[in-house]
This record gives sequence, structure tokens and C-alpha cells, in this order.
Amino acid sequence: MEAVSRADLAQILAEIEHRMRLAEDRGTVAGYIPQLAGIDPAQFGISVALPDGTACSAGDAATPFSIQSISKVFTLAIALGRLGDQLWSRVGREPSGLAFNSILQLEQENGIPRNPFVNAGAIAVTDAILAGHQPREVLGELLRFIRLAAGDDAIHINRAVAASEQATAHRNIALAEFMAAMGNLRNPTALTIGTYVHQCAVEMTTDQLARAGRFLVNAPGCPRLVSPARIRRINALMMMCGHYDGSGEFAYRVGLPGKSGVGGGILAVVPGRASIAVWSPGLNASGNSKLGTEALEHLARATGWSVFG
Ligand code: GLN
Repeated sequence: MEAVSRADLAQILAEIEHRMRLAEDRGTVAGYIPQLAGIDPAQFGISVALPDGTACSAGDAATPFSIQSISKVFTLAIALGRLGDQLWSRVGREPSGLAFNSILQLEQENGIPRNPFVNAGAIAVTDAILAGHQPREVLGELLRFIRLAAGDDAIHINRAVAASEQATAHRNIALAEFMAAMGNLRNPTALTIGTYVHQCAVEMTTDQLARAGRFLVNAPGCPRLVSPARIRRINALMMMCGHYDGSGEFAYRVGLPGKSGVGGGILAVVPGRASIAVWSPGLNASGNSKLGTEALEHLARATGWSVFG
């Protein structure tokens, strides 16, 4: 994969930001979490962090946003660290081809979610790392991991966003209860969902998120929080499942492992080169940031970055 100079990168990001400012169709902001429903869709930020921790940004790169499902990458890394391959008895590694919050496969497949990035799978992962711990400890560990990865102790959880999601979490509670009925939930549903909504409510800027994503880049200078073998596997899962039923389209258009969140953020990894975070709150039909995807498509084309050669 090509090396791109910092000056070229700055120019590419400025061009992308300009183009995205002018976009008319910005997608639709997630409406089902009340605290997120009111966010101004005109915002757009993008940051590229290099292995040494320096970052190049454009647009609203210093505005914190709710990382939502991007948190699932960090909890997966923690769960694999704790349980290793045992985790795979509770959650699969296949793309779902369904919406992030779908319940369909869960019944057909005996309460084992398809992958750790659909909601059911992420709830199972959170349940797995809760074993024997208090939610406070698990959330503390998650924040420590993210802060260490980003090199920034200011990263925090937005309690109002967590409370807002908790109040409307009927679907996620249903997923958890169904898994409990099938023997794939070990803690009380309220405890697991309470932890899950707080992990989703971590707030970061694109600058912070891009720096945090360096733990998946596997290059000298990047924080060493997981082994290279595990980095490859997490990236493989991000490529296949990180955008739900839009994962194939994302791989086709961007060609990099990525993970989206309904807050409008996307984390993308350029193995050996860089970590990219982009944010624009409007979503496409698969619940992934519309302009975020377009921006990454432009960036991948302009830099030649792709895992496909
Ligand atoms: N907290 C959100 C939910 O569970 C996360 C979904 C997402 O970002 N796709 O619905």
C-alpha cells in the first residue's frame, strides 16, 4: 500500500471536506435514540492518524460525537484478550446480510448471533466480559483501553446519551432476553444492556478516534494492545461485518476494514499505514454514515489505499 506524504494528505482531506460541505443529500440522522435525533446533519469531520500518533484533519474534527457501534471493536478486542477463542462459542464470524438490530437469525440459529458487530452479537460480547465483574469495572476497562489507544485521558461516556438509549432500548432488551432463553446470556438482562448502552455512549472526536484506531494498524509506533495475529482477525471481521448489510458495498467502494456507528462515525484501518475516522450524522439505508462512506471512497481513491491491491 502506498505511502502518502503529509502535505498530500492535508490537501486531499481539504478537498474532501469542501466537497462534503456542498453535498445536498446528507442522509437521515438516527431517530430512535432521542439524544441523537436532534443532531445537526450539516456537520462533517475527518481525521487520518499516522502510526507515530500525528494526525491530519479537516472539518469538524474537534467536535465530539457518539461512537455507538464503533465501541464494539474495542469491546471485541477486550473480550478476545480475556476469553481468547472461547468467545466463538457464543458468537459467530459470518456476515449477517441483515440490519444491525435484526432478530431474525437469532431464532433460526439457536440464540448464537452471526457476528460480534450486529447488536445481538455485541450484547453477547459485553455479557461475556461482564462475567464476574461489575458494569463499572467493565466500562472502566473499556475507557482505559480507548484512552491508552488514543493517548488521551479526556475521552469519556456521555451519560445523557446512555440514559436516552436505555429508555428506548426495547429491541436490544428483546435480543438479550431471547439469548437468555437460549442459554447465551449469563448476566441479568438489565445489567448487560445497561453496560452495553453506556459503552455505545462513549464520545470522541474524529481526531481522537483516528488515533485510537492505530492499535489495529500494526506498524512501528502504534500502541501494542493486541497481538498482530489478533489485529488481522479483527480487521477481517470489520471488513466482512462492520457495516451490517452494507458491508459488501463498503468493501467494494472503500476496500478497507471499517466499523460504523449510528452516531454517523466510521473507523477505517489502512493496515501498516494509517487509521481513519470520519463523522457525518446522516445515515444511508443500511444505517451507515452516508457522507462518511462517500468521503472514505474519495480518500481511498486519492491515496490508492486498499487492502485489495
Ligand atoms: N447503540 C446502538 C443500538 O444498539 C448502536 C447501533 C449502531 O451504532 N449501529 O442500537
